[in-house]
Amino acid sequence: MNIELVTIGTELLLGMTLDSNGAEIARALAAQGVRVTRRTSVADRPDEIREAVSGALHRSGAVLTTGGLGPTRDDVTKKVIADLYQVPLEFDASVWANLVERFARLERKPPESNRSQAEVPRGGLVLRNRWGTAPGLWLEGQLGLTIMLPGVPGEMRKLLEHEVVPRLRARASGAVIRSLLVRTSGIAESALAERLGNIEQEVDPLTVAYLPSVAGVDLRLSAWELAPDEADRRLRSAANLVRSRAGESVYGEGDIDLASLVLEEARSLGLRLAVAESCTGGLVGARLTEIPGSSDVFLGGVIGYDDGVKRELLNVPEPLLQEHGAVSEAVARVMAEGVARRLHADVAVSVTGIAGPGGGSDAKPVGTIWIACTLRNVTEARRLRLAGNRHEIRARAAQAALHLLYRQLHGLANR
Ligand code: AMP
Ligand code: MG
Repeated sequence: MNIELVTIGTELLLGMTLDSNGAEIARALAAQGVRVTRRTSVADRPDEIREAVSGALHRSGAVLTTGGLGPTRDDVTKKVIADLYQVPLEFDASVWANLVERFARLERKPPESNRSQAEVPRGGLVLRNRWGTAPGLWLEGQLGLTIMLPGVPGEMRKLLEHEVVPRLRARASGAVIRSLLVRTSGIAESALAERLGNIEQEVDPLTVAYLPSVAGVDLRLSAWELAPDEADRRLRSAANLVRSRAGESVYGEGDIDLASLVLEEARSLGLRLAVAESCTGGLVGARLTEIPGSSDVFLGGVIGYDDGVKRELLNVPEPLLQEHGAVSEAVARVMAEGVARRLHADVAVSVTGIAGPGGGSDAKPVGTIWIACTLRNVTEARRLRLAGNRHEIRARAAQAALHLLYRQLHGLANR
């Protein structure tokens, strides 16, 4: 089954409200094997709503709208769609009774303007809203199927779950649309594509999408309209193929966070962890402490931003700073070793680099970062050349430090 989404609200076009309804509905429907073929956002204007809904019905035969079902003058969705289907709006006593009851709980009476919320297009099915005042509506006719939901995300979500999904599931064939995310770090999109070779053809009918972000490049493998078992089996084997070709760049699957993997590895090895951060200013520590339960593994760290702090708290020798500069392999190594000693940690990671926009040179341009990891008296260092603005470089550096840490711990665990 195909369906289009039309999210209605001028605030969406002004960019004041993010269209979270659209994204949430698309995910929920895909999980049921209903294919969302287009998403459109329009203002609270009758002509634009009419055009968007009639176009969607014409193309796909089914449309789901959110927004514009409230009691105020800018809420016109119902009227426009009733006109489109050429049916009148009729007062529905049960909807009104529900409204009166909701207001009574607050010891109030509904204002006259709320009467419009009890109007239902003739032939439409009322999707009772127990979480708010505007009911959803399900309208079928020669034009196709139109489902209207309120815009308030909490109410939309409840109606979707309780009233819409069960009805759509009954119509759909039992096929599902499922995705599996394979997460990589430390490899550019083009380099990853090269390693994966002709994967698109090999995993067909699955599709492969590259999703780059500051966390790395995620690969989204998707199965479209397959039986659930078949979809899972094919996704599993495609993910294994990716892993076999992308090697160490792959750190996990799904919405897994690299920081939680680091903590798990350290925990299983019984190791305690510290960080020494210069240009990331605590981002690595923040990523680790974001994970509940990090305290049994993570000891703490030193934000050695200033050279004086590097000297005094991390025992970086002055001559080393003079000779190599703060952004250097030698200093990164000593920072990691210094914090491990200072905090009595078994494993430590350090970051020092130039996040920009100023401070770069020909020899060390903006984006030059050194990271080091010390584990059981062995220190590994890596130089990175990162792209992006200050925010992106810092986020990428933190992710790279966690990745180095993860590979060292994982290597030890599998030794
Ligand atoms: P409405 O049903 O049009 O009166 O919308 C009520 C409220 O829901 C709006 O003020 C927005 O804050 C929110 N809202 C409407 N549409 C969306 C959407 N597509 N995504 C997220 N929030 C929305
Ligand atoms: Mg609105």
